[in-house]
Amino acid sequence: MLLHFIFLVKEEELESRKWEFQYVEKMADFYKSWTEKVFSCKVDVQSDEMIVRSGGRFRLMDTPVILEDHLSRGEHIFHFYLTYFRPMWTDCTCEGYFAENFAMVWWQKSPKKDDIDFLREKNCTKVSHELAHEFLRQAKFKNYKELVHEIWDKHLFASLPFEYYDASHKKTEKNPLFATLDTSSIKF
Ligand SMILES: [Zn+2]
Repeated sequence: MLLHFIFLVKEEELESRKWEFQYVEKMADFYKSWTEKVFSCKVDVQSDEMIVRSGGRFRLMDTPVILEDHLSRGEHIFHFYLTYFRPMWTDCTCEGYFAENFAMVWWQKSPKKDDIDFLREKNCTKVSHELAHEFLRQAKFKNYKELVHEIWDKHLFASLPFEYYDASHKKTEKNPLFATLDTSSIKF
């Protein structure tokens, strides 16, 4: 299966957010190994930028527009959109949304350049939330929504720490590059 990350970026921000896309490329490689380790699911990954031009027809982006984009690219590919807007509606608790072979999260713009900590804590974690939903659903877990939301609530309200990984995708406490939800309670 191909897991294709698509980073939406406004044309005028293409240069200033290049460093974020470089992080996305590394994160895609990380999620390839994470998905295999946690969900025993082998995926290939790809990451691309989707440039949104001012005045273009994609300017008013919303969930239906990117769902349509997903279908036109091929519904057998798992497209994961990293968007600069929140999903219009969702029952997720992390400003993300998922459906069959489809996910999106609101990728928050870092207030300062090269703030990897911000991307890791605010965005990388949300990606693991939506991936967990979809891989649990594909594996026919009936509680694929509740299971993830129970863990997420503990992160938000019970000080459960995220899992941290370094550039070689190994668990670490020091200088982590990536963070995911705690998967210890997911019995796969
Ligand atoms: Zn959710």
